[in-house]
This record gives sequence, C-alpha cells and structure tokens, in this order.
Amino acid sequence: MMMQAGIVGMGIMGRLLALALHNAGWKVSLFDEQQADNNCSSTAAGLLTPFSECDKADPVIARLGQESVTHYWPTILQQLAKSIYFQQAGCLVVHHPQDKAEWQHFSQRLNRKLVAKDYFQHLSKDRLLELEPGLDKFATAYYFPAEAQIDCQSVMNSLKKYLQAQNLSLFFNNPVTALTSRQIVTPIKTYPFDYVFDCRGMGARTVFSDLRAVRGELIHLYAPEVQLHRPIRFLHPRYSLYIVPRPEHNYLIGASEVESEDYSSISVRTSLELLTAAYYVHSGFAEARIIETKTHCRPTLASHLPRIHYQEGLIAVNGLYRHGYLIAPALVAEILRALKTKQQDIHYPELWKSYDHCFS
Ligand SMILES: Cc1cc2nc3c(=O)[nH]c(=O)nc-3n(C[C@H](O)[C@H](O)[C@H](O)COP(=O)(O)OP(=O)(O)OC[C@H]3O[C@@H](n4cnc5c(N)ncnc54)[C@H](O)[C@@H]3O)c2cc1C
Repeated sequence: MMMQAGIVGMGIMGRLLALALHNAGWKVSLFDEQQADNNCSSTAAGLLTPFSECDKADPVIARLGQESVTHYWPTILQQLAKSIYFQQAGCLVVHHPQDKAEWQHFSQRLNRKLVAKDYFQHLSKDRLLELEPGLDKFATAYYFPAEAQIDCQSVMNSLKKYLQAQNLSLFFNNPVTALTSRQIVTPIKTYPFDYVFDCRGMGARTVFSDLRAVRGELIHLYAPEVQLHRPIRFLHPRYSLYIVPRPEHNYLIGASEVESEDYSSISVRTSLELLTAAYYVHSGFAEARIIETKTHCRPTLASHLPRIHYQEGLIAVNGLYRHGYLIAPALVAEILRALKTKQQDIHYPELWKSYDHCFS
C-alpha cells in the first residue's frame, strides 16, 4: 500500500522532502501557515559554497554541501524542467588591504581544514583579472572553482508548481496547531498519516529547545555598469559580505547576521555597510538602483549544525541556519536512507537525535 506522508512547513526543506518522497512513491500532503511565500527560504541569496565558508562552517556542512552541489541539485533541476538560474562558475574570496589579519586567518583555516588542495586555488593578480576584469583593485584572491549558485525564488516557485501539477495536496494558509507521531492537527481537521515530517523552521521551538533566530538582511541592486560573473565574498572582520550576480546585471548584496528574532525592514546601519562594501569592490555600484531589500530570520541551533529528531512515525529537521539551499538536498537524501533502512544506513549519525533523548 502507498505510504502517506504529512509535511508541515513549505520552506526549501519541506518542498524538497515532498519531491523526494513523491519520487519514492509516497502520497504526500503539505501544510503551511502562510498563504504566500514569505519565509526564510524565499529570502535567501542562493550561494552554494561548501568550501569558501570553511572558516566559519563545520566540515559536516562542507560534506553535505558538496554532495548537494555535485549530485542532488543537478538531478532536482532536471526534474523541475523549467529553466532555473543555476551556475557553477566558482566563487572568489577577496579582502581589503587593511584586513590582512582576516586574510591570514582565512588562509590558515583553509589550509588546515580543506585537505584536498584541488578545492581551491590561490590566484595571482593576473589570473584574477582574467577571471574577473572588474576586480582590478585586488592584488590576490582565493578561487573555489566547483562552487555554485542558484536562484532561490524561482526554485521555490517551480517546486510549488511542480508539486501541484503532480497532484500533491498543498494546504496554504493552514496553521498546524499540533503534530505528533502519525498525526497533524489544524483548526479545521485532524489528519492521519503513516509518517509526519516537521519542517517548520522557527515554528518548531517546542521540539528544538535551543532553536534561535539569526536575522539576515540583503539588498537587491540593478547595476548595468558592473560586470561580475560569479559570487564574490569580501572578507570583513565583523560581517559575512558577499555579492551574488544574477542575470541581466542584477546583484544581491548580503548579508547581515544579527542575533535577534526581528523581521522588520533593513536597518540604516546594515544598508550602509552592505552598500559601502559593494561600492568598494566595484565602483560601478555607485550608479546602481536599489530594487528591493529583504529581511528574514535563519532557524539556528546552538551548534550551528542541522539536527534531525526522530521517532517511529515522526521526523523533525531543523537548524539549516545559513545553509538551507546548500545542505537541504543532502539532508533529504539522508532522511530517505534512514526511512528505507530503518535507520541502519545513515551517513551522518552525529545529526540524529531520538525524540526520547531530546525530551529527557
Ligand atoms: C538573508 C538570508 C540569506 C541567505 N542566503 C543563503 C544562501 O545564500 N545559501 C543558503 O544555502 N542559505 C541561505 N540562507 C539560509 C536559508 O534561507 C535557510 O537555511 C532556509 O531557508 C531554512 O529553510 P527551512 O525550510 O528550514 O525554513 P523556512 O524557510 O523558514 O520554512 C519553514 C516554513 O514552516 C512554516 N511554518 C512554521 N510554523 C508552522 C505551523 N505551525 N504550521 C504550518 N506551517 C508552519 C513557515 O510558514 C515556513 O513557510 C539565507 C537566509 C537569509 C535570511
């Protein structure tokens, strides 16, 4: 008989899980309390950079990310058919001459953590200018050729359309008031399932007691005078600054990291910092037009790693933090492996925690 899955939360985690379960022959229903896409997943910049953030992220993130970029995203995009902007042209890391200490720290972490040297190259100025003629003020850079980027908003949209076209039940504007093993409760109805999947992001505080919000702000610019071909990370002592090119001279400049559950509009301080950094990297941003600003909160656990809570009939996954698009496809694969083999074949045991354990 066909297994029935109920997924709560239609962010990137919920939607990719729905796609994979549907592909595996399950009958899938999804619930979200919102009517339109206004979640963390609709805000993201779409960096798929497993290695160039190794100074900040745990090696597990690099492993999950590498799997997603190499294996899972290409397969997912093929299935979604609609052309989604996905580019694998690598990522560059540069620094301001005054931030030498930052650069040395980054170099040390890189050489210590990334054992395989073919994941990155240290570029001379000439080689950098061959790749990005617009970066003429930088003397050197690190280049991560296998890194990629994706248009998150069109992924979210295409996933929704694809799942609807496959006749999955998508219940928007449907807040789930309780979920337990095999059961989802909404104000209108209680639904039975063989398995319930909790992908509620910040909505799952009762399950993940160490869950907190890390606010992120970014700015979308239209900059016809700027020609950058791949994401640029600009090392900074206090922020994680990047410029993400999109087609037709569109650029995303991000992103702040503020320890606060604050969904209000972008602050003056962040705007100044992001725009100053962008202008420093390329003076053509002076005449750019601000298309929109975006703010949301990243669901984050104490370890800054994702975690999967499980019991028979219920799986909750959370803590995707700054890496939702980078790691969600690999997390989905891990969950499907666990379901198929009754937990016998999992590749990331450190991410799993049983419900009994987490409530004891
Ligand atoms: C500014 C910014 C830039 C980012 N850039 C990147 C990037 O470049 N690369 C990258 O990989 N990641 C990036 N991220 C991180 C990424 O966006 C997150 O990791 C990811 O979106 C988390 O996805 P999620 O599905 O777990 O949560 P969410 O997207 O928050 O989805 C959770 C869903 O659950 C629903 N929900 C909650 N409670 C209930 C309830 N009771 N009933 C029904 N529904 C409920 C919510 O409405 C929501 O739709 C960025 C984040 C921000 C803020």
